[in-house]
Amino acid sequence: MESVTENNLYERDESFRDSIATITKEGKRAWIYPKKPNGKLYNYRTLVCYIFLAIFFLLPWIKINGHPFMMLNVIERKFVLMGIAFFPQDFFLFVLAMITFVVFIALFTALFGRLWCGWACPQTVFMEMIFRKIEYWIEGDYMQQKALNAQAPNPQKSLKKLAKHSIFFFISFIISNTFLAYIIGIDEWKQIALANPSEHTGGLIAILLFTGVFYGVYARFREQVCLVVCPYGRLQGVLLDPNSVVIGYDYGRGEPRGKLHKGAERTNGDCIDCHQCVSVCPTGIDIRNGTQLECINCTACIDACNSIMDKINKPHGLIRYTSENAIRNKEKFKVTPRIIGYSIVLFVLLSTLITLLAMRSDVETTILRTPGMLYQKQGADSISNLYNIQLVNKTFEEIPVTVKAYGQHGTIKWIGNGITKIDEQGIADGEFFFIMPKNEISKTKTKIKFEIWSNGKMIDKTETNFLAPNN
Ligand code: SF4
Ligand code: SF4
Repeated sequence: MESVTENNLYERDESFRDSIATITKEGKRAWIYPKKPNGKLYNYRTLVCYIFLAIFFLLPWIKINGHPFMMLNVIERKFVLMGIAFFPQDFFLFVLAMITFVVFIALFTALFGRLWCGWACPQTVFMEMIFRKIEYWIEGDYMQQKALNAQAPNPQKSLKKLAKHSIFFFISFIISNTFLAYIIGIDEWKQIALANPSEHTGGLIAILLFTGVFYGVYARFREQVCLVVCPYGRLQGVLLDPNSVVIGYDYGRGEPRGKLHKGAERTNGDCIDCHQCVSVCPTGIDIRNGTQLECINCTACIDACNSIMDKINKPHGLIRYTSENAIRNKEKFKVTPRIIGYSIVLFVLLSTLITLLAMRSDVETTILRTPGMLYQKQGADSISNLYNIQLVNKTFEEIPVTVKAYGQHGTIKWIGNGITKIDEQGIADGEFFFIMPKNEISKTKTKIKFEIWSNGKMIDKTETNFLAPNN
């Protein structure tokens, strides 16, 4: 790319956007060998990522009142969050939570850019803080890695590769087991893990498949996840605006870039074109070109450039957390109409979600007239309707229940034994006649209410219709 000069400072060549650093002109994968990062931000990031890793691996083991803190059993459609069980009947809450989350992401990204990607995304955390560190440990820094890969097969190379890939596979196995524990719960996971593998061949195959996927991602696919797979990464073009915080190169200060020559008077900007910021980049980009989709905000280039600034006695921050408006127009952060709009929508959605969660009952009742049945004459003076009832217990306790009609003269006559309890996290189905004396019926269609009582407390109610002949 042509260097930016004082005259064309703000009219930069954008042709670098026509290609990506990880694909060669022939369309093959260009392997990235990022230099080992080092610096204050990297140390902070390491600490934060280790905290996230500890949370990720420990969370399935945490229980509240003997129930998982978090379980996402998509197979049996049972979900537990903070010890509270959610069922398919709560699907509307899930949809609302997802919409709220999307709006939150849009607001967060408009404000802070891809902070998530660099500091908290599992892909970056696993890749940069586990797998990459192991690679540096076994194969050395980027130059040694390049040299090793260029070597003809030899025992030392084979040993290093075998050690690296065995450890990668083992860690992938642990990660996929942890994901399984999130799905089926730690107790069931323990049963599977301790049992003879032949008793759980399906589970074993699933684990090995997931292990293979994780291994493939971290051993080979790597940054391609962020570049071509992750929808969040691909949406950056619409989520970011010139006020968003990004990792940016201060071209006003750095340009025109030029090599440092000892003893010669420097007339260029602060960038000495040392390429250290490019060498450390795990996605292979040159941040001096401007904000790019490939930048995962890992901060490695900030640390690299700051260490160079130390060496040439210039202030830190030639590459820093900033915004395009701050670099170009020296503007401070401002609240834009877009941020206000997102905030209002988020507030409304969050309030609705919290209200619905607070109103959520432990038992969900559905009572519907049995399809195809109108009414039945019961003797000379009564009419009945047949109903199907379903009670869902969303708690971890068995709930004793009594179904009562509210505000109507009539009696419930169960078919079979009726429903007297609902098992923990269970569903109870039943059928009953509701019989009303004719003299209490004034319309062909009467609204009737049923209440569900447990231990002297009304825990849910619902409404349905009662049909009667026209007389
Ligand atoms: S440009 Fe800098 S922050 Fe962005 S991915 Fe590369 S090294 Fe990380
Ligand atoms: S590390 Fe700093 S000085 Fe070196 S090329 Fe990058 S921006 Fe310029």
